[in-house]
Amino acid sequence: MTDYRTDEAFAKEMDAADKLAGYRARFYLPKTKEGAPCIYFCGNSLGLQPDSVAPAVQQELADWQALGVEGHFHAKHPWMPYHKFTMEDAALLVGAKPSEVVMMNGLTANLHLMMVSFYRPTEKRHKILIENGPFPSDRYAICSQIRFHGFDPETALIEMKPRAGEHCLRTEDIEKTIAEQGDDIALILIGGVHYYTGQAFDMAGITKAGHAKGCVVGFDLAHAAGNIPLKLHDWGVDFACWCSYKYLNAGPGAVAGCFVHERHAESFDLPRFAGWWGHDQETRFKMGPDFYPMAGAEGWQLSNPPILAFAAVRAALEMFREAGMDALREKSLALTGYLEFLLDEAKIPGLNIMTPRAPAERGCQLSITLQEKGRKVFDALTAAGVICDWREPDCIRVAPVPLYNSFEDVYRFAQIFREAAA
Ligand SMILES: *Cc1c(COP(=O)(O)O)cnc(C)c1O
Repeated sequence: MTDYRTDEAFAKEMDAADKLAGYRARFYLPKTKEGAPCIYFCGNSLGLQPDSVAPAVQQELADWQALGVEGHFHAKHPWMPYHKFTMEDAALLVGAKPSEVVMMNGLTANLHLMMVSFYRPTEKRHKILIENGPFPSDRYAICSQIRFHGFDPETALIEMKPRAGEHCLRTEDIEKTIAEQGDDIALILIGGVHYYTGQAFDMAGITKAGHAKGCVVGFDLAHAAGNIPLKLHDWGVDFACWCSYKYLNAGPGAVAGCFVHERHAESFDLPRFAGWWGHDQETRFKMGPDFYPMAGAEGWQLSNPPILAFAAVRAALEMFREAGMDALREKSLALTGYLEFLLDEAKIPGLNIMTPRAPAERGCQLSITLQEKGRKVFDALTAAGVICDWREPDCIRVAPVPLYNSFEDVYRFAQIFREAAA
């Protein structure tokens, strides 16, 4: 644990010693009206643009201009196998084998495709277990899948609840729910890091508990990918989906990711919604009438990939490989711990951090409430050039991300915050 101090020199010392500090200069930081760089703590919502993205997209535009359809084979990065260029980096990011991951579609679309294959309800076992207050899109997708199978979310959806007066779920309570109700649960589908509270769930433990009761276990990693280290393969997770525009910096609406555990690589008897890009690549262009899926996650692809959007994902993921998730996590722990320390030291009346205090149970985000002062403080932060995020009813989410945020950012944020709350 770092011995934090409240003086500004501490922030400067930490930045000077930060091995990842050079990455900040490789991002476009939004500026205030006066031209000063904003304090950008919103990478949990939309990551900033890496400087490698525009050249990567330009390359594809240029190849399209110069080559037309020949770009499928002769572009600098040939379009035909383009999705393969991201599989290794995506695998590193989520702790998988390359064959277990594929980048495709959007997050919610991928959740649907995964549920088509992995939510196999029966009369006896048809429930889905979710975390407290999931992201709305996940709830809509899950409820629509339940109804699609002729069941009623009123009875088929189990939403966990924190204990009275608490915001986060306790691991022992999650495991107890699974142990008690697991026989009725077809699928456990949980946000790996909670978008609102910032809680990182014990994904290994939940997977183990779920499998012990015969449940399929999947995770939505929208707030986990690029934020905390993941070991999806070793944990034995059945499937996972994530978006690439939050911590992964691949741009608004970026192509999303999907993980399918190796044990399902050749589960060709599972129902799946098929498209030609999931077809066995050797025979895809024979254009035959029957669908023969590729083994592994690639077999769930539908369409030929959107190359311009893919170029951004490719460039953004490369940066993660280069920086390394372990180094990023180390800095992230120090950065968020520092933010927590400064907020605690400021002794602001009414301030509460709903995110777990244990570093192992969170990523970089802290979710802060301030009783009735919240909105006023948030507006003052915005006016002072801080970009963070307000979530109804009363939560300020701040996410110092290790790739482009500095200890100086955190120091300045805490100062502005303290003044705004005074
Ligand atoms: C951001 C987020 C989404 C957004 O879904 P899209 O399909 O990418 O629009 C869904 N679920 C969770 C948990 C999220 O954090």
